[in-house]
Amino acid sequence: MDKLTIKNLEIKKKFIEVECIEVDGKEIILTRVLHGDINNYLTHVDCKTCGMEFKKQFTHSKICNACWNKDEYDKFYAKPLARTDYKGMIYDQHTDKYFQDLDDVIEYYEEDEISLDNAMLLTTVESSFNHIDIEQIASEEVHEDWDPSDELLTKIDEFNEFLNTQRTRTFFPCDTRLDISSFSKSESEVQDA
Ligand SMILES: [Zn+2]
Repeated sequence: MDKLTIKNLEIKKKFIEVECIEVDGKEIILTRVLHGDINNYLTHVDCKTCGMEFKKQFTHSKICNACWNKDEYDKFYAKPLARTDYKGMIYDQHTDKYFQDLDDVIEYYEEDEISLDNAMLLTTVESSFNHIDIEQIASEEVHEDWDPSDELLTKIDEFNEFLNTQRTRTFFPCDTRLDISSFSKSESEVQDA
């Protein structure tokens, strides 16, 4: 596709005729006229942030990749730091992958020859199963004066207790970041001790 910028896109002003009817003194246009946006036809635009011309990835791209990345990292570094003894699953926003621990992250980055400076590591939380309650199993099935037996309520409590012991193994990223440098520091401190 040819490079189209606001400077070389050929734009001619024209008029078209559309069919309309008049109802009660008001004109109603019958032909659907698409709302035009010149921006949709441009392949290259100037970045709203740095002003440099860039190739649009999406029709509505407004800022260049470099500025978008910088923005993402600024947002990432603005997040609070997690405790250095965090041991849970790690989510990396840069690769969009989950890792068991920091060694896993380092290994992955080494294999793919990505600099660890790119990593955007976040803590995660594991989801848990929803508890059941009497409403869920009985609301549509019983008459209005019905009361659950003590045995049924006890069994539901027991089942909910059981659910607490079961793991979903499904993790969601949290808004606290992990700092690789502080991790490696605390590990070498442990070795020195
Ligand atoms: Zn830019």
